[in-house]
Amino acid sequence: MEKEPLRDRTYKEMSDGDYLDNSQYMVVAVSLGITHFLMEFFYIWIGCTPMIIINIFSFLSYVVSVFLISKGKHLITVWIMEAEIFWHVIFASIFLGIKCGYHLWLFGTFSSIFLPFFIPNLSQKPKKQIGLYAITIVLGFEILVFLGKHGYLPTKYNVNEDLAEILYYINAALGFISIMIYTSIYNQRMAMKNIEMTFVAEHDSLTGIFNRNKIQGILEAEILRKGAGSEGNLSIAILDVDHFKIINDTYGHLTGDSVLKSITECFKKYSKNGLIYGRWGGEEFLLISPEIISYEAFGEMLEDLRKTIEELELTSGGEIIRVSVSIGAAVYEEGLSMDKFIQKADDRLYEAKESGRNRVVCE
Ligand code: GH3
Ligand code: MG
Ligand code: MG
Repeated sequence: MEKEPLRDRTYKEMSDGDYLDNSQYMVVAVSLGITHFLMEFFYIWIGCTPMIIINIFSFLSYVVSVFLISKGKHLITVWIMEAEIFWHVIFASIFLGIKCGYHLWLFGTFSSIFLPFFIPNLSQKPKKQIGLYAITIVLGFEILVFLGKHGYLPTKYNVNEDLAEILYYINAALGFISIMIYTSIYNQRMAMKNIEMTFVAEHDSLTGIFNRNKIQGILEAEILRKGAGSEGNLSIAILDVDHFKIINDTYGHLTGDSVLKSITECFKKYSKNGLIYGRWGGEEFLLISPEIISYEAFGEMLEDLRKTIEELELTSGGEIIRVSVSIGAAVYEEGLSMDKFIQKADDRLYEAKESGRNRVVCE
C-alpha cells in the first residue's frame, strides 16, 4: 500500500483529532440541531414558506452530522456544518432582509474555518479549498450588505421593523459568541501544545526525569544564586551505573532501559529533602541539592540512595538482576565555574570507580 505523505497525514490527524474531541463535536451538532428545530416554529409563526422549507434541510444536515460524528467522521461534518450556516445565512437574508442581521453569522463561520482547517504544514489542496471558502464568505457578506443597502433585500417576506431589530441583536450576539468560542478553543489548544512541547523539551523520554539541558539550566541558576550571596550549601553528585554495559550485553537493551527507569524511581523519595535530578547522559545522572541540607547530610543521603539501589531486586525472565552505582559528590566553593564544579564531582566518581565501585566519594 502506498504511504500517505506526512503533510496530508498531519492535516487529517490534526483536523480530526486535535480540534475538538468526539463529544464536543456532538455537543455542537446537537445544539445547532435543536436551534434549527426551534427556528422551524419561528418561521411557521412569521409565515415565511421558503425558510420553513430551507430550515428543514438545515435541521436534517445536523441529523446527518450527528450520525457522521458517531462514526468518527469529523472533517466532513465540519464542512457540512459550515455549508449549512453559509446557505442558511444567504437565504434568510434574501427572504427576511438584511436588517435581521443573519449575515453577522458569517464572521463566526469565517473565524471557525481557520481552526480545524488552517494548519501551517497543510498540503496545497485543502489550503486552496479553505482559501476559496474564505473568499466565498467575504464575497457573500459584501454582496448581501450591498443588496440590502440598495433595497433589493428582502425579496418578499418582510418582517416588521421591531422583530427585525430583535433578530439583529440576537444574531449579532450569537455571531460574537461563536467568535469568542472559536478563539478561546484555539488559544486553549495552543496553550496545551505549549505545555506539551515544554515538557518534551525539558524531560528525558526514557525515564521521564529532567534531561541534561534542563538540569544544567537549574545548576547554572543555582550557581548564580550562590554568586549573589545566597546562604547554605549547594551540593551536586554524579551517579553512574556500574558495569551497565554487562547488564545490556547479558539481558538485552530493553532490560537495560528498565534498569535505568527503576534507578530513577529510587531518586523520587529524596525530593522531599530538596533533591533535584536529571539524566546527564547514558547511564549517568546529575543530582543537585540546593542549600537545604548540609554537605554532610547530603553525603548520608547519597549513601542511603546507593544502598537502596544495591538492594533493588529487578527481574529479567525470572532471573534476579542486581545493580550498583558509583557516586562522586562536590560542594560549591566561591568562584568555582560550573564546569570546574562538575569536574570535581566527576573526578570523585572516577575515584569511586577506581576504588572498587558501588560507593560514594565526597572528599
Ligand atoms: P562502569 O562501571 O565503568 O561505568 O562501566 P559501564 O559498563 O557502566 O560503562 P560504559 O561507559 O562502558 O558503558 C555504558 C553503557 O551504557 C554503554 C551504553 O550502551 C549504555 N547505555 C547508554 N545509554 C543507554 C540507554 O538509554 N539504554 C540502555 N539500555 N543502555 C544505555
Ligand atoms: Mg558512564
Ligand atoms: Mg557506568
